[in-house]
Amino acid sequence: MATKLSRRALLVAAEGGALWMAGCRASSDATSSAPARSAEARSVAQVVPAQATRDGAGVALRRAIGSRLLPLLDPFLLLDEIRSERADEYVKGFPDHPHRGFETVTLMIDGAMEHRDSVGNQGRLVSGSVQWMTAGRGIVHSEMPKQERGLLWGFQLWVNLPRKLKMSAPRYQDIAPARVPEVTTGAGFARVLAGSFGGETGPVEGIVVAPTMLDLTLSPGSVLEHSLPATHNAFVFVMMGDAALGPEGRNVAARELAVLGPGNTLVATGGSEGARLLLVAAEPIGEPVARRGPFVMNTEEELDQAFEDYRSGRLVGG
Ligand code: MN
Repeated sequence: MATKLSRRALLVAAEGGALWMAGCRASSDATSSAPARSAEARSVAQVVPAQATRDGAGVALRRAIGSRLLPLLDPFLLLDEIRSERADEYVKGFPDHPHRGFETVTLMIDGAMEHRDSVGNQGRLVSGSVQWMTAGRGIVHSEMPKQERGLLWGFQLWVNLPRKLKMSAPRYQDIAPARVPEVTTGAGFARVLAGSFGGETGPVEGIVVAPTMLDLTLSPGSVLEHSLPATHNAFVFVMMGDAALGPEGRNVAARELAVLGPGNTLVATGGSEGARLLLVAAEPIGEPVARRGPFVMNTEEELDQAFEDYRSGRLVGG
């Protein structure tokens, strides 16, 4: 597997495509150095097209995790993409609604959103911003577009909390675009949102499962190899273009999510027009998941309690 992979990488390099090898044991001289024998490229276990749906007050979005096709990829509960130039598809936003039992990471690619919550936090997300929020025992918040025309494009990832932290205090942080490190190579670049890449560490550090979250841009034909712990569940969502993933070179198109199989290395080659990828990985929690609407707990009884607490005004505060 590793032999085939390294030969393909070398061919690309020999053809003039830059070999982009970050976060792995690569040397700068790709023509004389194959990946270490311990590298085991992850195959694509499943390709899941994001499903069109609506949420909030009628916002059109595409759901890649949390849909019927992929209900859960422990510890990831949901991945939504909002991407529209039509204001009527997003302006109504997500007015006040509750959450309990998990964390969210929101990534704004283009456009502006405003967040307000019951803890008193308020923040404006602009193009390139990241925000993380721990709902913990309870939060009520609104997430509203702050534009009336033009492209709104962003992602929201829901990350589960382990049982012992589901009722922790809510937390919230906005991260300005300038705080997100960019690692540039001849072949493309990475925005390091969380975890490490190319010697840089991302600013999202409060999420309990400590995920890796990278916004990767690959130029056409360039090859990325990136180590990921073998114990982590991992996926790649193709934001733009297309890419060949895994040692088998499985083609994955825009708005498709690839679940990566066992191994310790991601291998991705940019397609004919390059690719922009969202790579996310973290260790699974391995606990039962009970979810209903905005609440994610371990049991049905805990969900009933969350709804009862919300109805009686006890979800937030105290
Ligand atoms: Mn929300």
